Amino acid sequence: MRASVISENVREVLLTAEQIKDRIAELARDIERDYEGRKPLLIGVLKGAVMVVSDLARELQIDLEMDWMAVSSYGSGTVSSGVVRILKDLDTDLSGRDVLIVEDIIDSGLTLSWLKQNLESRGAASVQICTLLRKPERLKVDVPVRYIGFDVPNEFVVGYGLDHDERYRNLSDVVVLKPSAFGGSDD
Ligand code: 5GP
Repeated sequence: MRASVISENVREVLLTAEQIKDRIAELARDIERDYEGRKPLLIGVLKGAVMVVSDLARELQIDLEMDWMAVSSYGSGTVSSGVVRILKDLDTDLSGRDVLIVEDIIDSGLTLSWLKQNLESRGAASVQICTLLRKPERLKVDVPVRYIGFDVPNEFVVGYGLDHDERYRNLSDVVVLKPSAFGGSDD
């Protein structure tokens, strides 16, 4: 990684840009095979999934559409409660559509579990989930995820779309920050 003000705050690179690129290409091949002859609607969950959707969509050599949703989970601090509010809804009618939700990370799974049910209730023909990252240790609900990029340890990660207080989304790698980046001491 090039030295910069933001990379000074990085403790560890978990996934390099190259690893992410290669894995997204593999996921795209699986998705192309599963959706052959159909025109899936990729739904990106703002803001974290912007990088994943943009790289995945360009890798996919099939006819598709894209739309975006923004949701917020009510909860204390970094813990999701599963109570979700829609901040920006879709522009697309889901009746009969094959929907592929694209997420950056699944932590407890509560947000995605709610989102999947919400989209199914709008008459979608199918709703599947693709996530770049999953924290298996943290899962609280059994939400079926068809496409998973990587399992990651139970650490707060940033980069490649993921933020801490809106920063670090522009890092090409997925990284763990130093404690000092959260206001703590690195000793
Ligand atoms: P869940 O409902 O699965 O617990 O919450 C998932 C959401 O929590 C993600 O979409 C993301 O916004 C946030 N999140 C969970 N873990 C992390 C993490 O390690 N880093 C960042 N930046 N966000 C996370």
